[in-house]
Amino acid sequence: MFTDYTGKRQQMVRQQLIERGIHDSRVIEAFRKVPRHLFLDEALWPQAYDDHPLPIGEKQTISQPYIVALMTEALQLTGKERILEVGTGSGYQAAILAELADEVYSIERIPPLAKRARKVLDSLKYANIIIRIGDGTNGLKEFSPYDGIVTTAAAPDAPDPLLQQLGVGGKLIIPIGDEYTQDLKMYVKEAEDTYREESLGGCRFVKLIGEHGWK
Ligand code: SAM
Repeated sequence: MFTDYTGKRQQMVRQQLIERGIHDSRVIEAFRKVPRHLFLDEALWPQAYDDHPLPIGEKQTISQPYIVALMTEALQLTGKERILEVGTGSGYQAAILAELADEVYSIERIPPLAKRARKVLDSLKYANIIIRIGDGTNGLKEFSPYDGIVTTAAAPDAPDPLLQQLGVGGKLIIPIGDEYTQDLKMYVKEAEDTYREESLGGCRFVKLIGEHGWK
């Protein structure tokens, strides 16, 4: 049965994003447009616009809409950027980023998730997203430097390769902390080897597993 989730999506944008302070009109427009439910199993569609993360299989999650918006808004995208996402998961945040930046590269360590995300993104005709399978704690040097890197899993520290693969002026958004509680951090590369660090608030993500993350 075809169900139109447009109403639920507009309500999510109003109540969960705008009323909590998300104000970048391009970000708001992207969330109004991208059909979040299609990135989930059909049984979860009725919950797709609720205010929490949801399971996507392989013990992983699609993040809460507000957190995706907060991370995306922090990048201050204008449409010209090259962005790396570490942790493709369902592909939803990659789609949001693709609405707002020029090129999106996304890396996922679990092959079935990467394949499923590719399928959904192809069905929605996103041609500016490249997905790779691998350990994203090493970044994706081949397409660097990036104007922004968003890491959608939590690390003990900011992985060095990610900091190095930022261009000057670029931003790394990453949850830092232990398994249970983390701080969403932004590192702005002000010059080669000079970074300004800001905190965007508390959060809770799954672990970033890899050479420069959790073992
Ligand atoms: N951005 C995703 C979305 O929109 O659905 C949510 C991602 S989920 C919270 C975190 C993802 O990071 C999981 O799919 C997990 O497999 C992936 N991940 C964890 N460690 C990774 C690593 N070293 N490299 C790439 N992906 C990793």
